[in-house]
Amino acid sequence: MNRFRSAREELDQLVPYDAKDVRAEVLLASNENPMNLPQEIVKKLSERLSQFQFNRYPDPTASALRRLLAEANGLEPENVLVGNGGDELIFDLLLAWGGPGRTMLDLPPTFGMYAIDAATTGTSVVSIPRLEDFSVNQDAVLQRVRQGDIDLVMIANPNNPTGGLIDESFLIDLLGASDAIVLVDEAYFEFSRLTMRHHMSRHPNLVLLRTFSKAFSLAGLRVGYLLGDADVICELMKVRQPYSVDAFSQWVAATVYRERVMFEQVISDIIRNRDMISRELAQVPGVEVFPSEANFVLFRVEHASALWRDMLHTHSVLIRDFTRTPGLENCLRVTVGTAEESVRFLEGVAEVIGGRRSAAELAGTGGARGRGVE
Ligand code: PMP
Repeated sequence: MNRFRSAREELDQLVPYDAKDVRAEVLLASNENPMNLPQEIVKKLSERLSQFQFNRYPDPTASALRRLLAEANGLEPENVLVGNGGDELIFDLLLAWGGPGRTMLDLPPTFGMYAIDAATTGTSVVSIPRLEDFSVNQDAVLQRVRQGDIDLVMIANPNNPTGGLIDESFLIDLLGASDAIVLVDEAYFEFSRLTMRHHMSRHPNLVLLRTFSKAFSLAGLRVGYLLGDADVICELMKVRQPYSVDAFSQWVAATVYRERVMFEQVISDIIRNRDMISRELAQVPGVEVFPSEANFVLFRVEHASALWRDMLHTHSVLIRDFTRTPGLENCLRVTVGTAEESVRFLEGVAEVIGGRRSAAELAGTGGARGRGVE
């Protein structure tokens, strides 16, 4: 007899998410902000920490933060849903619009949680792979959506891990092509500085996702939010966990958001370092760099897995290996760190690839020299 009753049969096909907890001196694998919260904010929080009511349940809708987000985006609180990171909100979307007998459209290679959450909720997935340059196959997507059976479309803009943006005019066509919910995931919007927000009033099927994990240095607390039509948000309220965003995270996120001008400098620094990384990487022989509007850069290089290993073991720089992801063969992604971290990454890459080239050259000339001696 089994030790315990089997879980749902569909879970047989799934493996737990591997967050790859690898240690290194320089962490450039998870698209985090390299800078911790500004000291002024930490000080402000610590002054009031002793009065914090740890004993009370959180406000279920994070109303203070919700009001702030609504106001900043020219919306009503009813248009905002705060979640335990963007990840929870993606899951909520699949709980409400996915499920058995329903279909999500995915545009891989893209953020992996869309497909993972589709699998755990029993949602069918239609995948339309991106083209060679990672742009969306627009005609194929519009044609497929016009068939009318797609319930939910997931689009990361900028896309993770490829970094590029999608044409705004295509997104507008897509929103008008059916009544499917279209999630435009703007997790990196503070770096691209482009949003679909101004199309919300004309397209009630448009939902935007944002997060405090990237530009606002709060990956450790887990706070994200959706902007959408009040009726869409209302459906999501039915499936969400009422207390998923803890009181401490709500408080810190609201404080951070009130002080968001303080992040402008670090965001500009990240954008500048991103462009520097892209430029310098493109100079390294054999490296192909993909344009990025986010806080990371994807690049393709021969023997990418070996480079990933050497960067970790020789230079203690952790980047993300995508070489086993379909469409991303030989691709690695580096998060933009501080200027020092970015230089350390670039020097490491130059050294590993330079070393490889000279080893190959040595092997070639060494052979010739040997023959010469004979
Ligand atoms: N969307 C995209 C495109 C992302 O890259 C991420 C984080 N890697 C998220 C959503 C979720 O972010 P979080 O759960 O930290 O808010």
